[in-house]
Amino acid sequence: MINRRDCRRGSDKKAVLRVIIGQLANHLTAAVLAVVAFYLSLITTSLPPAPQDRPKIDAAIAVLEQKGFDQEAFLLKRTVTYRSTDHWLNSLIRDENAYASTNFPFQIITLYSDFYTKTVDDTERAMVLLHEARHLMGENENEAYAYVWRNRHKLGWTIATHGTTPSYISIEQITRDMAPEVFNCPGRLWMDCTEKPKTGE
Ligand SMILES: [Zn+2]
Repeated sequence: MINRRDCRRGSDKKAVLRVIIGQLANHLTAAVLAVVAFYLSLITTSLPPAPQDRPKIDAAIAVLEQKGFDQEAFLLKRTVTYRSTDHWLNSLIRDENAYASTNFPFQIITLYSDFYTKTVDDTERAMVLLHEARHLMGENENEAYAYVWRNRHKLGWTIATHGTTPSYISIEQITRDMAPEVFNCPGRLWMDCTEKPKTGE
């Protein structure tokens, strides 16, 4: 049996619940608007890539697709806004390499001149984008450098194909600094855990 007092208590509870839901909705709307405003401020204070640079970005993503990096290629193709100059946030906090910089979770990638000029071909540019794609997934520098180094044979960016390029030499050095655990295998060539075991010893 439900008496009148229970009924009033029930409607009081409903009223309180409605107020709480209303306030939550207001806060959520304010939060979404703040994120959108922040994102737009990043976009409007930077420039998009020049039209002649766009084919190089597309070609690098195509290399990733061909080599089986489907998830990364999808993110780079469908979720990213590309820029060519630093927005206000990057100019405050950037400590990335000179090729590119990613703002997670805003899915903004800024590509600098080294991406176009220091790299020697589409595969090397794919290597740069593969690193940035790992940031799009929330990975830190250690994880992103280690992932690219461990997957460079799959990508086709190896000492045999690119070992003498300025990018290979500098990325190997940075990877040794950022992901030392990948170079901690005494039985492998150059201590590199991704290389073949040493022979003749
Ligand atoms: Zn990085």
